[in-house]
Amino acid sequence: MTALRVERADVVVVGGGGAGLSAALAVAEAAAREDRRVPVVALVSKVYPMRSHTVAAEGGAAGVVGDDDSLEQHVADTLAGGAGLCEDDAVRFVVERAAGELYRLERWGLPWSRTDDGDVAVRRFGGMSRARTWFAADKTGFHLLHTLFQTSLRYSGVDGPVRRYDEHHVLDLVVDDAGGPDARVRGVVVHDQHRGEPLLIEAPAVVLATGGSARAWGTSTNAGICTGDGTAMALRAGVPLRDMEFLQFHPTGLPGSGILLTEAARGEGGVLLDADGRRYLADYGLGPETPVGAPVPRTMELGPRDRLSQAFWHADRDGRTIPTPDGGVVLLDLRHLGKERLAERLPLVTGLAKQFAGVDPATEPVPVRPTAHYTMGGIRTDARGATGVAGLFAAGECASTGLHGANRLGSNSLVETLVVGRAAGEAALAWSRAAGHPGADGGAAGAGAGVGPASADGEVVDRAAEIADRYLAMRGRGTEPPAAIRAELGRVLDADAGIYRDADGLRRALATVEDLRARYADVRVADTNPVLNTDWATTVELGATLLVAHATVAAALAREESRGAHQRLDFPDVDDVPRHSEVRLDAGGTIEVAHVPVGAEHDMRVGKRPITTPMSFSAERGAGS
Ligand SMILES: Cc1cc2nc3c(=O)[nH]c(=O)nc-3n(C[C@H](O)[C@H](O)[C@H](O)COP(=O)(O)OP(=O)(O)OC[C@H]3O[C@@H](n4cnc5c(N)ncnc54)[C@H](O)[C@@H]3O)c2cc1C
Repeated sequence: MTALRVERADVVVVGGGGAGLSAALAVAEAAAREDRRVPVVALVSKVYPMRSHTVAAEGGAAGVVGDDDSLEQHVADTLAGGAGLCEDDAVRFVVERAAGELYRLERWGLPWSRTDDGDVAVRRFGGMSRARTWFAADKTGFHLLHTLFQTSLRYSGVDGPVRRYDEHHVLDLVVDDAGGPDARVRGVVVHDQHRGEPLLIEAPAVVLATGGSARAWGTSTNAGICTGDGTAMALRAGVPLRDMEFLQFHPTGLPGSGILLTEAARGEGGVLLDADGRRYLADYGLGPETPVGAPVPRTMELGPRDRLSQAFWHADRDGRTIPTPDGGVVLLDLRHLGKERLAERLPLVTGLAKQFAGVDPATEPVPVRPTAHYTMGGIRTDARGATGVAGLFAAGECASTGLHGANRLGSNSLVETLVVGRAAGEAALAWSRAAGHPGADGGAAGAGAGVGPASADGEVVDRAAEIADRYLAMRGRGTEPPAAIRAELGRVLDADAGIYRDADGLRRALATVEDLRARYADVRVADTNPVLNTDWATTVELGATLLVAHATVAAALAREESRGAHQRLDFPDVDDVPRHSEVRLDAGGTIEVAHVPVGAEHDMRVGKRPITTPMSFSAERGAGS
């Protein structure tokens, strides 16, 4: 067996994006307030934290501030957007804490855009009945991530609680009794990409903050790193994935690349035109038509994203779009905003349109079409990020807290990363302390007390080494080119798991994904280098993406109704009783889908089975993923 370096921490946070940094900071701040041994939080990210996908968020983060707004209204808008699948407690939990987190970021230095009076400026966003989206021009994610990251540096010194593992790839969790009633996390198996060696970070508490998985689709706003790694780890560990079929398509991506043009462009007054230059949305139930440049909440271009994407689909079928080699497009017209306002409020959008579409939005409308964007479902958690596995938490886009339901409102997810990230970090620290692992309160002062190989559990080390060996053995083996598997996956999801679905298409997608998983068992990793082996790392990611895609297609086939972002041509009606889907892997590796009522007690015990509907199918797990 491979020799494994072993380190210990009180809490491991997997992910250095908005959710992961928030969780790590919550641990660090709790430590700063207390007069006890400083805990160690291991912050592990497969990329340098500032490259996490939160950096790409453009439009803003929702939080109630204005006199004309209220928490109740934000709750009501979120519930309406979620089409019956939100969990009430999660919505309230996030909405009530949202503005507090945004002010905290201001204190830490985030340069929110301001009104002429110096107040925080807010803009309109789709599905929100009030202007409540805080923004920093259209680079909100960049500034938010920068602010969190620079604040974390305060705590990252030699004696600080935050110990960073940048460019370290987590391969899997180590879990006792995975899938059983006594499931308990013991740590993570990591690959240090620079040293080219595996590492076990043993810890009683782990927070997964690994982001979304919409990159599985061929055309997506997501970067190549959004591969669903943590989502797959949780599923393998016995945690159900909830509502995976709800994949949000964003109505305004650039054709071909899928690069996002933020909804803020419409919030600022941009309009969508069909091939004849007509504002077509009114013809698909989003009217009445509003004056150009004076957007009205929840109407026309400011309708919810699912409705706008569906309207595009119909317009495309009705021959109202402009054909291009990358499919039909409509036009996002921003010309009436003028150069100055574009420069002030939408500089990134302006640059992206020029660079990637060759169009200056000040003088020409920009071609756009829907693109896969956001994973509404994910690792089932309660409002504070707890999963059914003791010591395992999840936050951010990889988690399904119940905030977004069947359709997320734009600008609700950045605040979710902050609020639930913080809550998960606090809960993980509390759990870790209660678990009282050796050295946790051992009397030694300073960070890192009790942290080191000497205290490691031999059995856990052996299991971790086995996991590492399994992944390392992929190098230099196999015959199936990973790029071909990856391309085929994107193609089938685009074709058969898009804005509208039906049983035939979903069965085709399921068969293809199963076949791809079988082929993946013999995937070819040509590069055998231990150090910075991106061939191997991306192939490992592909295994996670395939598993998550499998869960998604299975859940989509099993949901025989149309709701929010999941629209079935063969089941156009909405069920009377809203139910969550839950996907699990059984002991034999078969994917199972069950349905549970919304609002059912959030019992996170793994062993407890939900009320199930009859299985519509099951699918065997392919080896290696
Ligand atoms: C283009 C775009 C624009 C958006 N605009 C907005 C907006 O305006 N408002 C809004 O509310 N939301 C927006 N969203 C959504 C929002 O930005 C994301 O949901 C959110 O930033 C996700 O944050 P996260 O912390 O969960 O994940 P990420 O920021 O994606 O971070 C994931 C982290 O996990 C790490 N990781 C993953 N796998 C592993 C592994 N195996 N080992 C180690 N580390 C791993 C990565 O390195 C990374 O650090 C937008 C999304 C996109 C794609």
